[in-house]
Amino acid sequence: MKYLGSTPTGFITTSLLAISLTSFPCSAIAESSDVKISGITVSYLSAGKDDLAIKDLVVNSGNNELVKSLSKQFFRFEQPLVIEYGSSEGPLYDPSIHTIQIPYHFIADSLAYFSANNYLEEYGKTVEDAAMDTLLHTLLHEVGHAYIVDQDIAILGKEEDAVDHFAAVVMLNFIDGGDEALISAADMFAFESENRPEYYDYGEYIDDHSFDLQRYFSSLCMVYGFAPERYPKLLNQIEKEYRVERKSFCIDNFEILNRNWQRHFSH
Ligand SMILES: [Zn+2]
Repeated sequence: MKYLGSTPTGFITTSLLAISLTSFPCSAIAESSDVKISGITVSYLSAGKDDLAIKDLVVNSGNNELVKSLSKQFFRFEQPLVIEYGSSEGPLYDPSIHTIQIPYHFIADSLAYFSANNYLEEYGKTVEDAAMDTLLHTLLHEVGHAYIVDQDIAILGKEEDAVDHFAAVVMLNFIDGGDEALISAADMFAFESENRPEYYDYGEYIDDHSFDLQRYFSSLCMVYGFAPERYPKLLNQIEKEYRVERKSFCIDNFEILNRNWQRHFSH
């Protein structure tokens, strides 16, 4: 996955603009100077034996460098933001310490879900790549929460939905292969949903999060709305009587959400 370091148009497809992740600095010295520019620093809490492989997977994925680079160009932070791996709780954003916390077990759970669903055989992507796609979406979701606080952005609805849209807009506009990565992240929501009972508790209807299956369809809706001609069959799970209307809604909805989030990005 590569970052498209360009002025966003909403429909960038040329690979000529892609920047290879290998060009990003990795040394501690480079990172500390990079923090001043991007406003993001990454730390890893001590990893147990089982967590070391997960930590390596995260480090080698390039996701952190990608998020930092995107932040530098499109969503800079006034207050330095910390991304901390290895916490016991999360994934979450804690506004009191302006820190994103990602537990290693969240990534282990992703790997287990994709593995149990034979992701490589059924969907043509390795379990590790799919889990890193999910991590990227989750990172950007939490970065969205942090950016809202940092920039005091008005939220006129469910913040959890708003930051899912933030993640989708960033992935679709600025990351080469971001559409495919968003589909993998959406699939994770569908897998998680399969473990849910048929009926939810009433209290869950007032939860800030939409249900996993709603987040699955909402993410696919964003991908379709971004590039309907590229994904003519993406929404074919939807019953036939809804399909034409919902496809049209997804195109209009992406246009609105994309435009509104872009108003908060620097270009
Ligand atoms: Zn959230």
